[in-house]
Amino acid sequence: MRMTVIGTGYLGAVHAACMADIGHEVLGVDVDAEKIRALAEGRPPFFEPGLDEVLTRAMASGRLRFTTSLSEAAAFGEVHFVCVGTPQQVGSDAADLRYVDAVVDGLAAHLTSPCLIVGKSTVPVGTTPRLAARLRALARPGAEAEIAWNPEFLREGFAVEDTLRPDRIVVGVTSPRADRTLRDVYAPMLAAGVPYLSTDPATAELVKVSANSFLATKISFINAMAEVCDAAGADVVTLADALGHDTRIGRRFLHAGLGFGGGCLPKDIRAFTARARELGVEEAVGFLGRVDEINLRQRRRTVDIARDLVGGDFTGRRIAVLGATFKPNSDDVRDSPALAVAAAIHREGAEVRVHDPEGLHNARRAHPELRYEAEPATACTGADVVLHLTEWSDYRELDPVKLARVVRCPRLVDARNHLDAGLWRASGWTVRALGRPSPALVPGPQRGGLSQGADRGGAAAPTEGAVLSRSPK
Ligand code: NAD
Repeated sequence: MRMTVIGTGYLGAVHAACMADIGHEVLGVDVDAEKIRALAEGRPPFFEPGLDEVLTRAMASGRLRFTTSLSEAAAFGEVHFVCVGTPQQVGSDAADLRYVDAVVDGLAAHLTSPCLIVGKSTVPVGTTPRLAARLRALARPGAEAEIAWNPEFLREGFAVEDTLRPDRIVVGVTSPRADRTLRDVYAPMLAAGVPYLSTDPATAELVKVSANSFLATKISFINAMAEVCDAAGADVVTLADALGHDTRIGRRFLHAGLGFGGGCLPKDIRAFTARARELGVEEAVGFLGRVDEINLRQRRRTVDIARDLVGGDFTGRRIAVLGATFKPNSDDVRDSPALAVAAAIHREGAEVRVHDPEGLHNARRAHPELRYEAEPATACTGADVVLHLTEWSDYRELDPVKLARVVRCPRLVDARNHLDAGLWRASGWTVRALGRPSPALVPGPQRGGLSQGADRGGAAAPTEGAVLSRSPK
């Protein structure tokens, strides 16, 4: 089929390359000329494992091209996938739909024959009929476009695999013709037995935001348990292992630590709450506000632990941060918990040196005030405390004995509960983590025991900064 993919970011670039890879004729479109130039040269504009190979393969097949021209796209496609961003609005929790609207308006102005527009961006429930009305109002006679929603569930770090072998395909359609078209688009996946759920647009839109709400809730649940573990002297990792053996619960997404971030979960749960408010059902999803708060509290708790370890005051201290991206195997730093912590500590007067295997370029752009190092050992040189904030597998390979020689003080905060604490302690490090008992601490009724560290100095200073707390509504 001839299709366009409009918006070639983390979602769209992968979708475009994979659609060409399974045999479609694809035209990728973006307003970012630099991104389009890179893609047209077969270079992924961001780090995503496996994208390089699939992009090279697709370009070599001659089935994948890129353009910045929406009119060229309108003339080319029988199907148009909309993959533009839907970020949080400034000053509000709601999703900013201006990019989605701009694409629909732009397409409508240029279409000359009927086609199917398929939204993949994550949008508030009710978006599809709103856009359909917009299309009807703007379309030229004879160029009536139909609109469907096909939410995307790919995970950054596994985006190629998730696109080629999704665990399910969900489509929200209003006609059998649209359903047939989408079955054709995804024919190889359907032939491979991928579950295909065809429903109305409202349900399809809701599947995406409720899936993300569930995942966010699971993460915040275990982080809430981590706080209780800290207060009670219990171990959240063993707790999660024990919970996870119950197949009704499962172990995945039960990793206590610094919490979620990125370009999806935080803004999606807020946009869902805002939309529920409009629909008069805010109370039904009121718990998502608590999920958000618990999540952001992990960032503050991590700063508090680090401050505690350096004696209660960051002024003049050198802090090493391992990890800048919001998750490993991605270069995405949008709403990264790691960078939020690093920036908060910098604001309190520390010199912060950050290492990341893939995210340094984006991190430097987002937080130019921080110092960035290409090697973990350089970031750690002279450090008063090392913070492990993104669980790249590279950091598990670090030799704590060698690292102890370059730091000023061998103190580690493992905010992802991902390093071998026993190994680091045996190598002379003081190790603190979220929800795990610390040998230096006496368990007791005080919250967190965070102020009971043997090497504790003065009182904890308040932590400020929008990235650590809810943005104003
Ligand atoms: P992104 O910011 O990486 O990409 C969006 C792209 O759209 C950018 O390249 C931007 O230049 C382009 N764009 C903006 N306006 C445009 C226009 N008028 N015409 C053409 N291109 C335009 O964002 P993303 O992470 O790819 O997310 C896109 C959507 O997919 C969001 O709604 C997101 O919630 C959803 N989503 C993302 C993921 C993910 O893992 N990133 C997963 C599932 C769903």
